Amino acid sequence: MSLPIKELINIGTKQLEDAGVADAAIDARELYCYMQGIDRTALVLRWQDELQDNQCEAYFDLIAKRAARVPLQHITGTQEFMGLTFEVNDKVLIPRQDTETMVEDALELMEKRTLRGQEYTDSLKKGGDVLDLCCGSGAIGISIAKLAKGARVTCSDISSEALETAKKNAALNGCKSVKFVESDMFDALGGRLGNKKFNLIISNPPYIPPSVIQGLEPEVRDHEPMTALDGGEDGLDFYRIIAEKAPEHLKKGGVLMVEIGFDQKDAVKELLQDTGRFEKIVGLKDLAGKDRIVVAVLAKK
Ligand code: GLN
Repeated sequence: MSLPIKELINIGTKQLEDAGVADAAIDARELYCYMQGIDRTALVLRWQDELQDNQCEAYFDLIAKRAARVPLQHITGTQEFMGLTFEVNDKVLIPRQDTETMVEDALELMEKRTLRGQEYTDSLKKGGDVLDLCCGSGAIGISIAKLAKGARVTCSDISSEALETAKKNAALNGCKSVKFVESDMFDALGGRLGNKKFNLIISNPPYIPPSVIQGLEPEVRDHEPMTALDGGEDGLDFYRIIAEKAPEHLKKGGVLMVEIGFDQKDAVKELLQDTGRFEKIVGLKDLAGKDRIVVAVLAKK
């Protein structure tokens, strides 16, 4: 028996829909492309081809995994971010499109000294030293190292397993100069790197309250690392540490940029404001119009 590819993918889509997978049709195609090692354009050209039995079986094995709500990226092992390919696994958060928005804002600041077209600060004009705090897969720091001229990037994370993945991703993307530090927040950044102050500290820390994590999709709740998601009871634990410690690790006039949950803008701005160390504290939205980023400058005084 054999089946036309189109038919096979339609059956796969139906099975994923029945399992409650959000983007069933997209994932059914992606899994076929992954199995054959082809891209989406090649799939369109082969749409009418017939597939032999053994290959149909291999395809439905992949569909069954995805139907069990294993994230697509844990099956294929990769995620695109800022046009680059990142290896992912269950030790790192899968890079999100929302986070690309923050990287684009950082690149704009470095290239043009503006934030969404408005004059902001010129302290990043030569790229300078950048810290990706809580780097996970390294998506933020490695994208900046690759796309911003003159940026000297350090990636840090509490998880040695996440750092292993981040190092592989730096190699995969040809970023030889990125440095990696295993550190619980700023703890290990004080000693050996003690004199180093950064022009930009950028971070997507864990920010979800545990009560909310329980209600997330099974792909996130059951497969992504809790340490990358759990921001403590009110979700703000890591912003408290950042507000308190980031000033010691930023150059005067340096920029702090953090990703936030959609309902955390006011709380995070207030935490930064209360230290009395930051100025130009602003919130920015993601592509869906939700509050997603807070940016601030370390005051020069
Ligand atoms: N944005 C991620 C999500 O919604 C969470 C990322 C985080 O906690 N830093 O799943």
